[in-house]
Amino acid sequence: MPGATAGHDVVLHRVVVGALATNCWLVHAAGDRATLLVDPGDEPRRILDAVAHTPGALDVVAVVLTHAHFDHVLAVPAVAAALGAPVFAHPADAPVWPGELEHLRRRGHWDAGTATADLLGGDALTPPPGWQPWDGTTEPVTDGHEIRLGPLTATLLHTPGHTPGGLSVAVGAHLLTGDTLFPGGPGLTGPRWPTSDFATIMRSVDRLMTWPDDTAVHPGHGSDTTIGAERPQVPSWRARGW
Ligand SMILES: [Zn+2]
Ligand SMILES: [Zn+2]
Repeated sequence: MPGATAGHDVVLHRVVVGALATNCWLVHAAGDRATLLVDPGDEPRRILDAVAHTPGALDVVAVVLTHAHFDHVLAVPAVAAALGAPVFAHPADAPVWPGELEHLRRRGHWDAGTATADLLGGDALTPPPGWQPWDGTTEPVTDGHEIRLGPLTATLLHTPGHTPGGLSVAVGAHLLTGDTLFPGGPGLTGPRWPTSDFATIMRSVDRLMTWPDDTAVHPGHGSDTTIGAERPQVPSWRARGW
């Protein structure tokens, strides 16, 4: 993919995983093995294959969780154990994973929002038999935390609103925005998700909009966009309230 800062190309590999087609990302500098793994949401075997089978193999120095919704963390135990890498998350997200487990306990399936749960149905949102839940352990990071990737620096940005501890990752001319910013709007907020807040996510969106127009935006699901493509729409998102 394109994108360069100070002469160093950023390479992004996307692995689409799980029932909600979550974008799991591997990010490194061209010609360098030090890699950031973002959102191991499911299918750990496919993620680890992408690490191992990249020419020269990648060296995952850290795992970053944009947030702790089930579709972004289900492969954390397997991936962290296999790679021996620390798992970074914002401490304000601590209530989110227990909330996901509580929903699973009460309802028998993961919470993916009314429409998605109805559409997917069946076993798509149910853990496999014998499944052992992640214990939720992460290394807390705060806004501005920097991770060296060879010649690059990835900076973690606290972008709350979809969840209280939402993180985005800025590296070169790229933003990995998790479920904070998508083409056409911010991530889900509303009364169904008590840890979410629309005014808060819009403040996070406003912050991301301070990046240059040509900044590539890589969301937690679906297609990429750019800051320049989304900025003109922000007033209409604020007006519609979601
Ligand atoms: Zn989410
Ligand atoms: Zn998601």
